[in-house]
Amino acid sequence: MTQTTPATPATPATPATPATPAVRVPRWLEAPAPGWTTSADVIVVGSGIAGLTAALRLREQVDTVLLVTKTVLNEGSTAWAQGGIAAAMDPADSPQEHLEDTLVAGVGLCDVDAVRALVTEGPQRVRELVALGAEFDRDAEGEIHLTREGGHHRDRIAHAGGDATGKEISRALIEALHRVQSDPGIQVMEHALVVDLLQSGGPADGRVCGVTVHVIGEGQVDGVGAAHARAVLLAAGGLGQLYSATTNPSVSTGDGMAIALRAGAVMADVEFVQFHPTVLWLEGANGQQPLISEAVRGEGAFLVDSDQPDGVRFMRGVHELADLAPRDVVSRAIVARMRETGTDHVFLDARHLGREFLERRFPSIVASLRSHGFDLASDLVPVAPAQHYASGGVKVDLTGRSSLDGLYACGEVSCTGVHGANRLASNSLLEGLVFAHRIADDITARLAAGELAPVAPAADATGPSHDGALLGAAHRGDVQLAMTSGSGAVRSAGSTAATAEMLAALAKGAEPGGDTPGPAAWEATNLLQLGQLLTQAAALREETRGGHLRSDFPERDDAHWLGHLHSVRGVDGLVATTYHPVSATDRA
Ligand SMILES: Cc1cc2nc3c(=O)[nH]c(=O)nc-3n(C[C@H](O)[C@H](O)[C@H](O)COP(=O)(O)OP(=O)(O)OC[C@H]3O[C@@H](n4cnc5c(N)ncnc54)[C@H](O)[C@@H]3O)c2cc1C
Repeated sequence: MTQTTPATPATPATPATPATPAVRVPRWLEAPAPGWTTSADVIVVGSGIAGLTAALRLREQVDTVLLVTKTVLNEGSTAWAQGGIAAAMDPADSPQEHLEDTLVAGVGLCDVDAVRALVTEGPQRVRELVALGAEFDRDAEGEIHLTREGGHHRDRIAHAGGDATGKEISRALIEALHRVQSDPGIQVMEHALVVDLLQSGGPADGRVCGVTVHVIGEGQVDGVGAAHARAVLLAAGGLGQLYSATTNPSVSTGDGMAIALRAGAVMADVEFVQFHPTVLWLEGANGQQPLISEAVRGEGAFLVDSDQPDGVRFMRGVHELADLAPRDVVSRAIVARMRETGTDHVFLDARHLGREFLERRFPSIVASLRSHGFDLASDLVPVAPAQHYASGGVKVDLTGRSSLDGLYACGEVSCTGVHGANRLASNSLLEGLVFAHRIADDITARLAAGELAPVAPAADATGPSHDGALLGAAHRGDVQLAMTSGSGAVRSAGSTAATAEMLAALAKGAEPGGDTPGPAAWEATNLLQLGQLLTQAAALREETRGGHLRSDFPERDDAHWLGHLHSVRGVDGLVATTYHPVSATDRA
């Protein structure tokens, strides 16, 4: 069995993790042969902050851009972002301080060069977003009002509509797109689900040269087609739907990561999943849950372990920033306190902030809680950690290039190294913005230099039908339950082994022709494959760091695990995960 092994040290002090079953991933999802073709210089997959920003900039610089998105333009995590976007725009602040806070949150695993790019280019990119039409909240002097969130030592979070930052950014970007949509240089396909990548050869020598895409219904094309391009940018967002409870919308099914994995791209740090500490806890809830932004604690709300008068403010003494400690610290403290008190939630107390302030500052959160029967101004609100953000993903360099020639990744689907083991609050919108510009400029320069000349996909890419087994759509919930029970907020050797077995059993049941090829089965299969990958990495990393919490290895272990896990699918379909210590530069 090609079991995955850390390439370097990791000599465990305790008995080795039980071997998890080998993960085998087919090259293709079963899908009908393409019935139509189209082409563009660049294909952008996804219409969140990453995809829209890249598409708009590319349109100014290359001849033709095709933007495809699974449902409608504003559907994705971007439009749900509440707290804001971090950038050192206050004269008293500096990119260096933003960098330092980011590195602390990343617990030794950030790529320092990537973080430097993020924090130094961030302020200018945010100003450009304002120039494009995004309206951020202003202070009495008319300056962009900056607030603070967990892990930040300065007020540097720009926000809009109080707590509706993502909605405003999405609106501004989509309006900018509509202003240029009559331009023949840009084509937009909504209800277009990308199934797989087209390559000119095998994973070792092949260039990524397009995508297979399923268009649902009306318009000039219908069903599965082949879209050819000189470069493909995956900006397909995160994987929250891998878990029973998440803050992510229903489109966040990890398609981009699974697509890249199947094509042989290197994936990095997928075990680092951020569980947001304060998601509304609702008995028996499933799917997307209401988030109560960190900004509420930023304004003075705090956590207590009970709704009785003797409820304890348990974050005091856990961290110097108490309730504003980095997310992993708060989530971990909540999980520990829930264990001690034998409950499945704690409470958020914002009552002292006053109704008038709460309604003005957090209108969306107040309304969302009210729709579930809670009044933030008078109730203690039950909260528990839920999946929120994928810190790992498709491994890319400083220009967003993946390990596959012609394939780029941007935003939550990617792993630039800026988040390390855990993302600092409000750094993800910024990452999408900054790296989308870098990618657009890199692609432009390469096309202008005659690189990435058009190539035809290999014959097997467009054969009669792809025969990769599909998991029945009805099993999506089984994947979520398996992941939540064993590879969720708290993991152990035993729990990840049990989850790996459950997922392997589901994979065994997935057969070619086992379910009708279509969006529901493709999404379920993407979730299964990613769940297997993530569980493999989570089982290997025998320490607790950032978003990865192991109850059997509760300490950070720099002696063995100050490094990254890279996973790649080999030509035999087996996924191998190897350990790579951080470079000397990033250690400094
Ligand atoms: C509730 C919530 C609050 C948040 N608050 C903040 C915050 O305050 N600050 C912050 O910085 N971050 C925040 N985040 C995180 C941040 O919103 C996301 O990380 C970021 O918006 C991701 O942007 P993106 O462009 O990478 O992906 P998304 O915005 O998720 O967009 C992904 C796009 O890809 C499309 N897509 C997916 N699969 C396919 C496919 N197969 N084919 C075609 N298209 C596909 C989707 O439909 C979508 O258009 C929050 C997230 C959530 C869920």
